Amino acid sequence: MNSATRRIPELVCASANPDKVAEMVAVLDGIVVLLPRPPELPEVVEDAPDLAGNARLKAGAVARHAGVSALADDTGLEVDALDGAPGVLSARFAGPDATYDENVTRLLAELDGVEPSVRTACFRTVAMVVRPDGSAISAEGVVRGRITTERRGAGGFGYDCVFQPDEGDGLTFAEMGRDAKHSISHRGRALRALAEKLAAGSRG
Ligand code: IMP
Repeated sequence: MNSATRRIPELVCASANPDKVAEMVAVLDGIVVLLPRPPELPEVVEDAPDLAGNARLKAGAVARHAGVSALADDTGLEVDALDGAPGVLSARFAGPDATYDENVTRLLAELDGVEPSVRTACFRTVAMVVRPDGSAISAEGVVRGRITTERRGAGGFGYDCVFQPDEGDGLTFAEMGRDAKHSISHRGRALRALAEKLAAGSRG
């Protein structure tokens, strides 16, 4: 089969976060068809000690339930001045049911008085496909940057308004257009690397 007639692979999206799903669909447009997460499946408790473990919990639950391969991403913000926190606990930094805004408020409070030069951080995403037989393939994406001293921008979600990537002309992710974020973001990099691996596997 040549590339013009090759079928685009279908994966069930295991993420229940609509902001992340929108980004996954945009990044994988034309590369992978993402099918919606089964609505009857309860949200998975993300209690693994690392990003890869949580990605496996999420994608594995959907793959077992639906009997098809599923894609999950798990992401953490690692702040150097906080010894890598919040990391795998990024969604719950300000408490178990914290909102994005509450998490950002806690982050800015933790970094109160920390000089701009040492507010360095990275976003890290592990993207993983788990097949119904439990086998998995994964890829990681990282973007380095710094935490601003105040919120800037109205786009994106989560910590985007306080994360200024080193490669982004001084803008926070929330000040960039969607495609500009995806071209350098942790999630964009992880998903593109994973798509490459899947394509190489299906060729090989
Ligand atoms: P999760 O555990 O992968 O769902 O994500 C952890 C938390 O990290 C989310 O609740 C968001 O607050 C944050 N997060 C994940 N991805 C991004 C992103 O692309 N930009 C900003 N924050 C993000």
